[in-house]
Amino acid sequence: MPLPNITSGTSKRCSARTKSRNLEPCLNLAAHGTAVCRNHGAVHPDKRAKGKSHGRYTQGTNTKEKVATRKEQGALIRNCEDILFLLGAIEGNQHTRGGNLPLGYEKITTIEQAKEFIMKLENSVHE
Ligand SMILES: [Zn+2]
Repeated sequence: MPLPNITSGTSKRCSARTKSRNLEPCLNLAAHGTAVCRNHGAVHPDKRAKGKSHGRYTQGTNTKEKVATRKEQGALIRNCEDILFLLGAIEGNQHTRGGNLPLGYEKITTIEQAKEFIMKLENSVHE
């Protein structure tokens, strides 16, 4: 008799797809905290290799920390640009190129928002 959480359909299933069955999903239960089952390479998140010990680490330019830092800096540059537009220091309608807006970016449209942003920057510098 199957477990009740399997029959209710609320348990998470493995996201792997099988070649032999025309890319149908694997129907096993996903291992705790992962997206795949034990047959498809589930590793506990705490035991997963990270940083230099990871097999695909080469130069460290695309580690999660570095990518997050780049996104933060991109948002900062965009906000500074918004303020320059607000103050009229930059004319025209051309922002920095690139359609993908950085994560955490919120456009500054009023002087009050600009003041808030500058206060946050000052506080982060003094810490
Ligand atoms: Zn599976």
